[in-house]
Amino acid sequence: MIVIENCAVATVDAAGTEYADGHLVVDAGRIVAVGPGHAGRRHRAVRRVDGTGCLVTPGLVNTHHHLYQWATRGLAQDDGLFDWLRTLYPVWARLDADAVAATTAAGLGWLALHGCTTSTDHHYIHPRNAGDLMAAQVAAAAEVGLRFHPCRGSMDLGASQGGLPPDGIVEETEAALVATEEAIDRFHDPADDAMVRVAVAPCSPFSVSGKLMVEAAALARRRGVRLHTHLAETVDEEEYCRRTHGCTPVEYAEQLGWLGPDVWLAHAVHLDDSALDRLASTGTAVAHCPSSNARLGAGTARVRELLDRGVPVGLGVDGPASQEANQLGPELRQALYTARLRGGPGALTVREALALGTIGGARCLGRADQLGSLEVGKLADVALWRLDGLGHAGISDPVAALVLGPPAPLELLLVGGEPVVVGGELRTVDEHELVRRTRRAHRTLTRGARR
Ligand SMILES: [Zn+2]
Repeated sequence: MIVIENCAVATVDAAGTEYADGHLVVDAGRIVAVGPGHAGRRHRAVRRVDGTGCLVTPGLVNTHHHLYQWATRGLAQDDGLFDWLRTLYPVWARLDADAVAATTAAGLGWLALHGCTTSTDHHYIHPRNAGDLMAAQVAAAAEVGLRFHPCRGSMDLGASQGGLPPDGIVEETEAALVATEEAIDRFHDPADDAMVRVAVAPCSPFSVSGKLMVEAAALARRRGVRLHTHLAETVDEEEYCRRTHGCTPVEYAEQLGWLGPDVWLAHAVHLDDSALDRLASTGTAVAHCPSSNARLGAGTARVRELLDRGVPVGLGVDGPASQEANQLGPELRQALYTARLRGGPGALTVREALALGTIGGARCLGRADQLGSLEVGKLADVALWRLDGLGHAGISDPVAALVLGPPAPLELLLVGGEPVVVGGELRTVDEHELVRRTRRAHRTLTRGARR
């Protein structure tokens, strides 16, 4: 049992309940009490944490990532998505299980240090003879101790078929489907407290055939797992869809069976009003990645309009090759800034930003019943942020301090009640070892790559 007390509490429950001075009690991996004042002596704590000067929130949920990119950051610095991809595809073609294990551990360790307790990953590069990449990822996530939703990505539309990626790194359609189902068989856990859940995730309209999209959706629905893909990220993609399919990306997705309450889409930047309405009426969710969209100059998503229509929206750091900082905590501020640059000062509040990064993300992943808010009975995925240093001194509203202030030091991160970060340091893995493994992977992958 862990008792955290003397801290501000932002539960992010449906009523937006907060306590200026409150407590949280965790037992057997779940939240057993949350409220104002002290926890009281009835809880015989194994561990009592004095949260003076801190804010406790739900752990952040990252809804879009490509962890393998951790070792290939800082390349194609001034390119938009398509040229950036053309530069990086040959680099990623060298991926193997060692590089994937190293980058998964590094990327998840970094996310943990910035308040993330659950992360997805979208891995769509499967070079021939690269080894067992999915097993390497799942093992690395277990090592770090984060809840993990690996999305088995795929591409089957090489350049010779009119796609963007070179033929050498795409899979055969049937082989991709077989490998995706195998990933579900081996790693998906439907349990309420699952540490690993698998999603089906063909990459994007310009790298995947319509046949693979349709059959992947059927596979996901037959197996009861969620569906994830990139959609409407750039103007180039919209032009590609209009030229190739005669419709917008959202219309194309709908034709393929890719809208619905079991689907979450990465980006969804370029949406007209009818596309917003289609996402809302089908219950389709969105992984909003404002920093990546800025780095690639892709555009600003219509988050206010999505929220006003009731579309579930979560936050994603996206791949670290298109968003080198890759911290989910500061993404709260970036989401607020992006929304306000687009829609003015009323476009997003600090509390809405926190909700995007917590309960919004849990909704994207279909886990809002277990994750995303501090409520009795939910899983004990918890972030305790230190707000009493120089960076946050003089801000009296702790949620404003967290969202608008500089990145807050993390005092404690619990995943299922297990400490992953204590006093700003990873407890599960050696950070220096992660650095060494990343350097090794970087050398192997980036020989001769263009900056
Ligand atoms: Zn992405």
